[in-house]
Amino acid sequence: MTSLTVVQGDITEQRVDAIVNAASRAMRGGGGVDGAIHRAAGRSLMRECIERFPHGLATGDAGWTPGCELPARWVVHTVGPNFRAGERDVSLLASCYRRSLEVAEQLGARSIAFPVISAGIYGWPLGEAVETAVRTVIAAQASGLTTAEEVRFVAFDASMLTRLQAMLWLHR
Ligand code: ADP
Repeated sequence: MTSLTVVQGDITEQRVDAIVNAASRAMRGGGGVDGAIHRAAGRSLMRECIERFPHGLATGDAGWTPGCELPARWVVHTVGPNFRAGERDVSLLASCYRRSLEVAEQLGARSIAFPVISAGIYGWPLGEAVETAVRTVIAAQASGLTTAEEVRFVAFDASMLTRLQAMLWLHR
Protein backbone atom coordinates (compact mmCIF):
# COMPACT_ATOMS: atom_id res chain seq x y z
CA MET A 1 0.00 0.00 0.00
CA THR A 2 1.56 3.29 -1.08
CA SER A 3 0.54 6.68 0.28
CA LEU A 4 0.88 10.18 -1.12
CA THR A 5 1.15 12.90 1.51
CA VAL A 6 1.68 16.66 1.61
CA VAL A 7 3.37 18.66 4.35
CA GLN A 8 4.61 22.20 4.71
CA GLY A 9 8.22 22.54 5.78
CA ASP A 10 11.87 22.39 4.86
CA ILE A 11 12.81 19.35 2.78
CA THR A 12 16.25 19.16 4.40
CA GLU A 13 14.59 18.28 7.73
CA GLN A 14 12.41 15.44 6.44
CA ARG A 15 12.96 12.08 8.12
CA VAL A 16 12.58 9.92 5.05
CA ASP A 17 14.88 7.48 3.29
CA ALA A 18 15.47 9.79 0.31
CA ILE A 19 14.87 13.45 -0.45
CA VAL A 20 14.79 14.74 -4.01
CA ASN A 21 16.87 17.73 -5.02
CA ALA A 22 15.88 20.12 -7.83
CA ALA A 23 19.46 20.25 -9.11
CA SER A 24 21.01 22.06 -12.06
CA ARG A 25 22.55 20.27 -15.07
CA ALA A 26 26.07 20.99 -13.87
CA MET A 27 25.29 19.39 -10.47
CA ARG A 28 27.51 21.90 -8.71
CA GLY A 29 24.99 23.47 -6.34
CA GLY A 30 22.94 26.63 -6.76
CA GLY A 31 20.11 28.53 -5.12
CA GLY A 32 16.68 27.53 -3.86
CA VAL A 33 16.20 24.02 -2.60
CA ASP A 34 19.54 22.94 -4.14
CA GLY A 35 21.43 25.51 -2.05
CA ALA A 36 19.50 24.55 1.09
CA ILE A 37 20.27 20.83 0.59
CA HIS A 38 23.98 21.47 0.05
CA ARG A 39 24.17 23.70 3.14
CA ALA A 40 22.40 21.16 5.33
CA ALA A 41 24.25 18.11 3.96
CA GLY A 42 27.71 19.63 4.42
CA ARG A 43 30.64 19.95 2.04
CA SER A 44 30.95 16.23 1.40
CA LEU A 45 27.77 16.38 -0.71
CA MET A 46 29.58 18.53 -3.28
CA ARG A 47 32.47 16.06 -3.34
CA GLU A 48 30.01 13.23 -3.96
CA CYS A 49 28.37 15.20 -6.79
CA ILE A 50 31.71 15.91 -8.46
CA GLU A 51 32.79 12.26 -8.19
CA ARG A 52 29.54 10.69 -9.29
CA PHE A 53 28.51 13.23 -11.91
CA PRO A 54 31.66 14.55 -13.55
CA HIS A 55 29.61 15.58 -16.59
CA GLY A 56 26.49 16.60 -14.69
CA LEU A 57 23.03 15.23 -15.49
CA ALA A 58 20.65 15.71 -18.40
CA THR A 59 17.39 17.58 -17.99
CA GLY A 60 14.67 15.10 -16.96
CA ASP A 61 17.18 12.57 -15.62
CA ALA A 62 18.00 11.65 -12.00
CA GLY A 63 20.87 10.14 -10.04
CA TRP A 64 21.77 9.69 -6.40
CA THR A 65 24.33 10.52 -3.74
CA PRO A 66 24.44 9.69 -0.05
CA GLY A 67 22.60 12.15 2.19
CA CYS A 68 25.84 12.98 4.04
CA GLU A 69 24.83 15.01 7.13
CA LEU A 70 21.12 15.06 6.31
CA PRO A 71 18.59 12.96 8.22
CA ALA A 72 17.76 11.31 4.87
CA ARG A 73 20.04 8.43 3.85
CA TRP A 74 20.08 9.44 0.17
CA VAL A 75 19.63 12.49 -2.03
CA VAL A 76 18.11 11.80 -5.43
CA HIS A 77 19.14 14.66 -7.71
CA THR A 78 17.00 15.50 -10.70
CA VAL A 79 17.25 18.31 -13.23
CA GLY A 80 13.99 20.05 -14.00
CA PRO A 81 13.42 21.90 -17.26
CA ASN A 82 14.18 25.61 -16.99
CA PHE A 83 10.96 27.25 -18.20
CA ARG A 84 12.51 30.69 -17.93
CA ALA A 85 15.27 29.63 -20.34
CA GLY A 86 12.75 28.24 -22.86
CA GLU A 87 12.69 24.56 -21.81
CA ARG A 88 8.91 24.14 -21.90
CA ASP A 89 8.38 20.45 -22.68
CA VAL A 90 6.18 19.21 -19.84
CA SER A 91 7.20 15.59 -20.54
CA LEU A 92 10.68 16.50 -19.27
CA LEU A 93 9.13 17.69 -16.02
CA ALA A 94 7.13 14.45 -15.67
CA SER A 95 10.31 12.51 -16.42
CA CYS A 96 11.98 14.09 -13.37
CA TYR A 97 9.40 12.50 -11.06
CA ARG A 98 9.47 9.12 -12.82
CA ARG A 99 13.27 8.90 -12.97
CA SER A 100 13.58 10.01 -9.33
CA LEU A 101 11.12 7.32 -8.25
CA GLU A 102 12.99 4.72 -10.32
CA VAL A 103 16.32 5.66 -8.74
CA ALA A 104 14.77 5.62 -5.25
CA GLU A 105 13.24 2.23 -5.98
CA GLN A 106 16.62 0.84 -7.07
CA LEU A 107 18.12 2.12 -3.81
CA GLY A 108 15.39 0.44 -1.79
CA ALA A 109 14.07 3.72 -0.37
CA ARG A 110 10.69 3.16 1.30
CA SER A 111 9.90 6.86 1.85
CA ILE A 112 10.70 9.72 -0.51
CA ALA A 113 10.17 13.47 -0.19
CA PHE A 114 9.88 15.76 -3.24
CA PRO A 115 9.92 19.52 -3.62
CA VAL A 116 7.84 20.92 -6.48
CA ILE A 117 10.45 20.71 -9.22
CA SER A 118 11.01 23.72 -11.52
CA ALA A 119 8.49 25.78 -9.51
CA GLY A 120 11.04 28.28 -8.18
CA ILE A 121 14.04 29.75 -9.98
CA TYR A 122 13.21 27.76 -13.15
CA GLY A 123 9.89 29.59 -13.34
CA TRP A 124 7.41 26.88 -14.34
CA PRO A 125 3.78 28.12 -14.06
CA LEU A 126 2.77 26.88 -10.61
CA GLY A 127 -0.55 25.30 -11.58
CA GLU A 128 1.06 23.11 -14.24
CA ALA A 129 4.11 22.33 -12.07
CA VAL A 130 1.87 21.07 -9.27
CA GLU A 131 -0.49 19.18 -11.58
CA THR A 132 2.41 17.42 -13.30
CA ALA A 133 3.94 16.51 -9.94
CA VAL A 134 0.76 15.01 -8.53
CA ARG A 135 -0.44 13.27 -11.69
CA THR A 136 2.94 11.74 -12.44
CA VAL A 137 3.43 10.36 -8.95
CA ILE A 138 -0.12 8.94 -8.82
CA ALA A 139 0.44 7.25 -12.21
CA ALA A 140 3.77 5.84 -11.01
CA GLN A 141 2.12 4.41 -7.92
CA ALA A 142 -0.71 2.92 -9.97
CA SER A 143 1.68 1.30 -12.47
CA GLY A 144 4.00 -0.11 -9.79
CA LEU A 145 6.97 2.02 -10.89
CA THR A 146 7.30 2.87 -7.20
CA THR A 147 6.50 0.52 -4.34
CA ALA A 148 7.58 3.00 -1.64
CA GLU A 149 5.27 3.18 1.36
CA GLU A 150 5.21 6.97 1.30
CA VAL A 151 5.80 9.61 -1.33
CA ARG A 152 5.66 13.01 0.36
CA PHE A 153 5.42 16.44 -1.26
CA VAL A 154 7.06 19.18 0.77
CA ALA A 155 5.63 22.68 0.28
CA PHE A 156 7.95 25.44 1.35
CA ASP A 157 5.14 27.95 1.94
CA ALA A 158 1.45 27.96 2.80
CA SER A 159 0.25 28.83 -0.71
CA MET A 160 2.09 25.86 -2.20
CA LEU A 161 0.63 23.65 0.52
CA THR A 162 -2.88 24.76 -0.49
CA ARG A 163 -2.16 24.15 -4.17
CA LEU A 164 -0.81 20.66 -3.51
CA GLN A 165 -3.71 19.72 -1.24
CA ALA A 166 -6.26 20.92 -3.80
CA MET A 167 -4.54 19.00 -6.62
CA LEU A 168 -4.39 15.84 -4.54
CA TRP A 169 -8.07 16.15 -3.73
CA LEU A 170 -8.88 16.57 -7.44
CA HIS A 171 -6.92 13.51 -8.54
CA ARG A 172 -7.93 11.09 -5.80
P1 ADP B 1 13.91 25.08 -9.54
O1 ADP B 1 15.24 25.64 -9.95
O2 ADP B 1 13.70 23.65 -9.99
O3 ADP B 1 12.78 26.00 -9.88
P2 ADP B 1 13.85 25.95 -6.72
O4 ADP B 1 14.70 25.41 -5.63
O5 ADP B 1 14.08 27.38 -7.12
O6 ADP B 1 14.04 24.92 -7.95
O7 ADP B 1 12.33 25.78 -6.34
C1 ADP B 1 11.63 24.57 -6.38
C2 ADP B 1 10.59 24.57 -5.28
O8 ADP B 1 11.23 24.27 -4.04
C3 ADP B 1 9.89 25.93 -5.06
O9 ADP B 1 8.52 25.70 -4.83
C4 ADP B 1 10.59 26.48 -3.81
O10 ADP B 1 9.72 27.34 -3.06
C5 ADP B 1 10.83 25.19 -3.05
N1 ADP B 1 11.88 25.23 -2.01
C6 ADP B 1 12.93 26.07 -1.88
N2 ADP B 1 13.64 25.74 -0.78
C7 ADP B 1 13.02 24.67 -0.21
C8 ADP B 1 13.25 23.86 0.96
N3 ADP B 1 14.29 24.08 1.77
N4 ADP B 1 12.38 22.84 1.21
C9 ADP B 1 11.34 22.58 0.40
N5 ADP B 1 11.08 23.30 -0.70
C10 ADP B 1 11.90 24.33 -1.00
